[in-house]
Amino acid sequence: MTSSGSNRLGEFEAIAKLFAPLAAKEPGALSLTDDAAILDLPFDEDLVVTVDALIEGVHFLRDDPPATIAKKSLRVNLSDLAAKGATPRAYLLSLSLASWVGDDWLTQFARGLGEDQEQYGIALIGGDTTATPGPLTISITALGSIAKGMMIRRSGAVAGDCVFVTGTIGDAGAGLAVLKGGGGTLDKNERAALIARYRIPQPRSALGPRLLYIASAAIDVSDGLIADLAHIAETSGVRIVVEAARVPLSDPFREMFGGDDEAIIRAATAGDDYEIAFTAAASARARIEGLGFPITEIGRVEKGEGVVLLSRDGKALKLSKPGFTHF
Ligand SMILES: [Mg+2]
Repeated sequence: MTSSGSNRLGEFEAIAKLFAPLAAKEPGALSLTDDAAILDLPFDEDLVVTVDALIEGVHFLRDDPPATIAKKSLRVNLSDLAAKGATPRAYLLSLSLASWVGDDWLTQFARGLGEDQEQYGIALIGGDTTATPGPLTISITALGSIAKGMMIRRSGAVAGDCVFVTGTIGDAGAGLAVLKGGGGTLDKNERAALIARYRIPQPRSALGPRLLYIASAAIDVSDGLIADLAHIAETSGVRIVVEAARVPLSDPFREMFGGDDEAIIRAATAGDDYEIAFTAAASARARIEGLGFPITEIGRVEKGEGVVLLSRDGKALKLSKPGFTHF
């Protein structure tokens, strides 16, 4: 772990000590005492790399619990690895610390990372800490591995494929609406369930590697189902048709917004789901069902371009915005 900002160097050394235990299980991390780490991969595997930065006031609020900020920072990256079919191996952490961040915050943040490391079987192998006059910024680079040449790309969908999505869609967006004062008709458990979906994503890490040899294209749903499927459509050079009635909604979401076309548009254009949307040949249906995960077939791939959301009577629904963007 290196640091810069010489006036706070003593402090940064203390931070490095705080994070060193997170590197203990990975010998190649060299206890965060060297300039770089070593990651050993079998000769028949590729390294899959992804990075995401979370910024105070944009992706989280200063008052959010530090452990959940830590988990969200890590898990949005694990979600990207899962969608690519990769198995998570290690991660690097870059912290730009705002002046309000104190020891107590950092201790809880490190605790959150430690808990997730146990859950997902990864370790910290390096990082950097700086002081910033701006907002607290957490950047995590996650490293995964996969059988050589097998990463599931956005570009592999072909006309005739079916479209699938894991879990339920729209819950995190609903959780944010609850935090903003909505959801008056929900009971305590329903409110908690939706807020948890917003605060702590549940990346599909167990499923991702099992989509190898099944999915023709995949993406994690972070900006909204429609917006993310549009990335697959564009990269693959196809048109994706989604049937609104088949978009999976949770019970708390239905309780809050109902299940009509307007509610489905809300769900399909909300962000932060961290489910996996993927395409696969129709012949893969039985294998997909056999995986034992909550996966719903929601549409089909055709020749053409763009994404269409079809209402029950077969009309294309108008979308004012395809998804949530953090910019
Ligand atoms: Mg992504």
